[in-house]
Amino acid sequence: MPPPEGVIHEQRIAYFSMECGILSQIPTYAGGLGILAGDIIRSSADLRIPLVAVTLASRHGYFRQEIDGEGRQHELPFEWDPGKLMEDAGPRVTVRIAGRDVQIRAWRYVQQSPTGGKVPLYFLDTDLSGNASVDREITDQLYGSDRRVRFAQEIVLGCGGVRMLEALGYPIRKYHMNEGHSALLGLELLHRHGLDEGEVRERCVFTTHTPIEAGHDRFGYALVDDLIEDDADRALLRKYGGEDELNMTVLALNLSAYVNGVAKRHRDVSTRMFRGYTIYAITNGVHSFTWTAPSFRRLFDRYLPGWANEPELLVRQQVIPNEYVWQAHQESKRSLVEYANRLTGSHLCDETLTLGYARRFTPYKRPTLLFSELERLRKACGCGKVQIVIAGKAHPADALGKALVAEVHRLRKELAGEIEIAFIPDYDMDIAARLVAGADVWLNTPERPMEASGTSGMKAAHNGVPNFSVLDGWWIEGCIEDVTGWSIGPPPEEEVSPEDGLSWELDDIYNKLGYVIRPLYYRRRDEWIEVMNNAIGTVAYYFNTHRMMRRYVTEAYL
Ligand SMILES: *Cc1c(COP(=O)(O)O)cnc(C)c1O
Repeated sequence: MPPPEGVIHEQRIAYFSMECGILSQIPTYAGGLGILAGDIIRSSADLRIPLVAVTLASRHGYFRQEIDGEGRQHELPFEWDPGKLMEDAGPRVTVRIAGRDVQIRAWRYVQQSPTGGKVPLYFLDTDLSGNASVDREITDQLYGSDRRVRFAQEIVLGCGGVRMLEALGYPIRKYHMNEGHSALLGLELLHRHGLDEGEVRERCVFTTHTPIEAGHDRFGYALVDDLIEDDADRALLRKYGGEDELNMTVLALNLSAYVNGVAKRHRDVSTRMFRGYTIYAITNGVHSFTWTAPSFRRLFDRYLPGWANEPELLVRQQVIPNEYVWQAHQESKRSLVEYANRLTGSHLCDETLTLGYARRFTPYKRPTLLFSELERLRKACGCGKVQIVIAGKAHPADALGKALVAEVHRLRKELAGEIEIAFIPDYDMDIAARLVAGADVWLNTPERPMEASGTSGMKAAHNGVPNFSVLDGWWIEGCIEDVTGWSIGPPPEEEVSPEDGLSWELDDIYNKLGYVIRPLYYRRRDEWIEVMNNAIGTVAYYFNTHRMMRRYVTEAYL
């Protein structure tokens, strides 16, 4: 079966990502990394960038989150059937894992844009009857906790992905690795180019996402050698991926001529972490149309026609009358409030200042920082003047992350009657879209410098929702105090001890909430709407994947 697009001979960018957020019904994403992959595919289709994407089928998904009466997270498999949503692309390719041939097939999803652009996305799947039963399960679970399965997944993605694109007949101009999970593609390319590392480097682009040493994906050679039997491959991995252990980031760095971090600050942090490599910065964005709520889409269509494929037009948001901006926001807010109340039995009110917080639950994101000092929080929130909507999943193996989910539920009970808190279970793309549009203020409190970029705040900005966040990742570039939103804690260049940093952050959280944000929201509505306008005209105008992809094309792909 030939690929669906006419121009198969056109050289393409092959985009590899372990996770991919394309639709809520396709649960093959865990967080920002996957949503970014989805937004890259959506913007590339709109801009008619010749891109083809590869990911894993993850038939059991990441997981479905259920919360019990004690606030504990339970994980249920989220089974989905690729055959119901897309077609088998045809070819079978084989990789060798632990001495067995493992067959792979690919399901093709085509992202179609109203501009006529199309980007095919292939979901690699080992669930084939010819495979041994352990091998059929390789592509079941996204980010499974078992290291052996995880490395097998990376063989399927990296090596299998290159072979599949070849079998499908795509001539590839560049291979773009979204994080190191797909770095084994470099090994595959070395063989195709007579082990000429220069040739391979010219073809590879690597985007790193992890600002700390411990976060990098690595494997001991005992495990690697168990799964990869070829002596030449073993030697190549040691040469390019590290002597003592296989570090997928190092492998990707050594085999890519173009490397970038996902925000300027992240570039600086990565450059310090990996001496001797040149790392550029292309700050992340989000797909404007996807993350703009229907109420604002209508408004932008009327006043800024063409905005969806040219988000720069948002620079003219001042042409939209303030009352319409407010009405559009209230429409999204009512929809969120009704949804959350119906789903969780909470008592949110659409006239109350609403903080939104949603992301992966893991310690560095500090989802409970806001609740560090409850007396100060109570005071900052006035009597019933602030409510909070929260969502997020913890990785099944992240015990501390799961404890944070439980802690938020405990706090919700403790604060009942004083501060209304709704926790929406099973965070996904649809819930994200509702939350970023329906909150009044989008909160982010990560531990610096762990937030490589962050993107949910950019989604909020597209809906006129200002950010109130720690100065890390993208917000360092987006924050203009009192103009686009508010900062929490010290500026990035400020050298402060962890204790001083924390007390600075808590002072900002409680003081700005109580003395700046709350009074502005309730008493100076016109000035509040100006901040909303700036979120659109200054933040969304820039932090979108259309701008980002144009930069990838001119700086990394051409
Ligand atoms: C946008 C998004 C994320 C990323 O959020 P951050 O706050 O940037 O970490 C994670 N999960 C889902 C479902 C999203 O839509």
